[in-house]
Amino acid sequence: MSSRKKIIAGNWKMNMLLGETRDFLGALSTRIASISLESEVLLFPSFTSLSHAAGLPVRDPRIQLGAQTCSEHASGAYTGEISAAMIQDLGAEYVLIGHSERRQYHGETEIDMIRRIEQALNHGLQVVYCVGETLEERKSGREIEVVRGQIQPIYDAIPFDSHGKLTIAYEPVWAIGTGETATPEQAQAMHAIIRGMLEEYSDAKVAAQSRILYGGSMKPDNAEELLSKPDVDGGLIGGASLKVESFLKILESAEKHA
Ligand code: PEP
Repeated sequence: MSSRKKIIAGNWKMNMLLGETRDFLGALSTRIASISLESEVLLFPSFTSLSHAAGLPVRDPRIQLGAQTCSEHASGAYTGEISAAMIQDLGAEYVLIGHSERRQYHGETEIDMIRRIEQALNHGLQVVYCVGETLEERKSGREIEVVRGQIQPIYDAIPFDSHGKLTIAYEPVWAIGTGETATPEQAQAMHAIIRGMLEEYSDAKVAAQSRILYGGSMKPDNAEELLSKPDVDGGLIGGASLKVESFLKILESAEKHA
């Protein structure tokens, strides 16, 4: 058992209208009302849904909120962008940075991510930073090198005293939304390697205290085994976070290994 508090985080992506957001939060809040949770519960709704969720009186305050990205700029003429200040203003506590869909469809590079992380940290937000290799990269045995290339520049650029505000989500791209999950052994092996990288690029204390989440087709029937691994400190969940029942089952699995 580790001293790190597990995080069960739902990435809703471009799903959930306002009514669905209200229904989900109402139902989840009711279901967890009588449970004294050991794990952190976190949702990353779309911006419209986030704004709605933040003001919903039915939300159990233990359900934390985060944005799915933030602008690399502080404010100004950036049409369509949402700043870290706006996210903080809503009462959200986290920002997701570097999701593979942002890397793939929006061409975000490590340089962009560093700027976004800096904005988030400047506004008191915590960051869940996503890393992970593609299938081709794993097949060619380059997964560690790829993940290192995603982690090292971030820890080199971000001031040391902010390293503790970063949570890593290891999300092998080949497992996201595909139904194919990394085996618990594959996840544990990469999480341990990532923890070693944090020790190298930050220090032993940061490495020991940082949460490393697994993401990629985590669902009720595979969550418990993944979450039982010593370096798997929670999950970042896409598809299975859209239904209260499946999200709750994953949360219950985390509680067993809290
Ligand atoms: C994700 O997109 O962060 C994710 C893990 O999705 P899924 O659980 O659907 O694979």
